[in-house]
Amino acid sequence: MSEPTANELILKGINASPGICIGKAYLVDKEGVDVVEKYYIQEDKREAEIKRFKSAVKRAQDELRSIVDNSPEELQQANILETHMALLKDKMLYGKTLTIIDSEHVNAEWALKTVVSNLKSIFQTMTDSYLKERASDIVHVSDLIMRNLVGAKTQDIAAIDKRVILVARDLSPADTSQINLERIMGFITDRGGKASHTGIIARSFEIPAVVGLENATTTIKSEDLIIVDGNTGTVIIHPNEETLVEYEEQKIRYEEYKAVITRESHVQATTTDGFRMEVMANIELPEEVVAARNYGGDGIGLYRTEFQYMNRPEFPGEDELFESYKDVVEVMGAKPVTIRTLDINGDKALVNSYGYDEVNPVLGLRAIRYCLKKPDIFKIQLRAILRAAAFGNVRLMFPMISAYFEIQLAKKILDEAAESLLKDGLPFKRDIDIGIMIEVPSAVITADLMAKEVDFFSIGTNDLIQYALAIDRGNKRVAYLYQALDPAILRMLKHVADVARDKGIKVFMCGEMAATPHHIPILLGMGMDELSTNPQSIPVVKRVIRSIKLEETHPFVADALKQTTAKNVFKLVRDTYGEILADHTYSGSFKLDQ
Ligand code: PEP
Ligand code: MG
Repeated sequence: MSEPTANELILKGINASPGICIGKAYLVDKEGVDVVEKYYIQEDKREAEIKRFKSAVKRAQDELRSIVDNSPEELQQANILETHMALLKDKMLYGKTLTIIDSEHVNAEWALKTVVSNLKSIFQTMTDSYLKERASDIVHVSDLIMRNLVGAKTQDIAAIDKRVILVARDLSPADTSQINLERIMGFITDRGGKASHTGIIARSFEIPAVVGLENATTTIKSEDLIIVDGNTGTVIIHPNEETLVEYEEQKIRYEEYKAVITRESHVQATTTDGFRMEVMANIELPEEVVAARNYGGDGIGLYRTEFQYMNRPEFPGEDELFESYKDVVEVMGAKPVTIRTLDINGDKALVNSYGYDEVNPVLGLRAIRYCLKKPDIFKIQLRAILRAAAFGNVRLMFPMISAYFEIQLAKKILDEAAESLLKDGLPFKRDIDIGIMIEVPSAVITADLMAKEVDFFSIGTNDLIQYALAIDRGNKRVAYLYQALDPAILRMLKHVADVARDKGIKVFMCGEMAATPHHIPILLGMGMDELSTNPQSIPVVKRVIRSIKLEETHPFVADALKQTTAKNVFKLVRDTYGEILADHTYSGSFKLDQ
């Protein structure tokens, strides 16, 4: 790549949605209300101040209601905007602001700002990146109230009528729902991570996006020419001639590459010597099932169900859960849908129950641990899953299992859920495959015991790497250690796969490790029966599998297991499979993680 000129500026962020676009920047939300003044309210003006706040919330509600009514069905189903509606009147936001105005005699803007900073810091200390992202919901909602309080003009992004690249601090779901996505070439934002709404929406609309740039809005002006490289997470401002030509060519190559790969996405992933690997999709929202099918997914390998429980004042009821599971199951027909039970730290899932602080939440009452402590909540989800199972091919999977008794207990509650459905005379199916996620080292080491209780293992490398190597995934200072190819991880994978084979159960992988082309020869050689990735990565994973001979991966894995460092394993992959993988540099091949 050419050296940047004095004019050319490069920003690095997080690659939230793949693709390259080149065009004019369009800055939104510059009018966001960043500076908030504090002043004291006299005793006799307090009622008026409270009233002023209430009217601002009312106006925000009306605004949001009209956005909800006019938003595309996809977004309505995701429940994001409804969640924002509920947040507007949430007692931790609305109630607390009123209390502060009343007790501290301060202006409404200041009270709101204080409440929001507190809530934000609670959310942001959470280690779960998904939950962390939810701090942005609070910010979006409070921005809306704040704009109404100070009378700032809301930018009319619905009126954007040219092909532009949106540059924003963050794009709220309300913002994105108004945008005519046909017109948008790309998104870039200061905030957000891969699990942000902007990321999710950009991926489902296949718009290149880079998020978490930190200072894009302060560096870029409207009308600036910019390049967005969603494959690498790079943004180039004022590109010079040479860079422009280079990226134009890259863009064409990427689009051709994507077209070729996608064209053959429905071809089975069978190795050159005839082994058929199932390549499934990971989804977070029911509507992503469409992408899963379009990209040639052989089923859903991981349905992360927690999305439906978050950002709302109350947990969803059984019927609501049942309907969304049933939708996914019906779209997939005979193909398997692996529904994972709630993977939350429950105390943080309910919008109105912050305040319960765990010193070390990643090691706390998370996922199955939470569900086993709250059997009533767990049973509602299990009943919904069993009911949906009557409509297709459902598998059930428990997350974060770290002890044998947890599986026994979870299955006992599952039996109780089935019995209660029988009593209620509701149709359901109990005879489904039950599996556990292997994402904690204790589950790896006791895999032989765990295998007795289940039909399959699904390895969650995202967490397994974190727990096995003792790396806080949110901590940049130790990010260099977060390597899927670390010898410790490879040995764990091999152990789990060997145990599964010995015990006659299936072994799958649904962690992100499975989405990277240069990991595929290793995963094949280890004996994985199925891989599951984000929908967009399915075609490339299938294509790589089709280029490999299974038989040759066995001595290769034996060699890989002798390596002393992730770097050496990586070099071995490159030396052995370089030619096959050379085409797939767009998909993150030939880069060590982080
Ligand atoms: C994992 O940990 O690898 C996994 C797939 O689960 P999640 O990313 O939802 O924690
Ligand atoms: Mg996990």
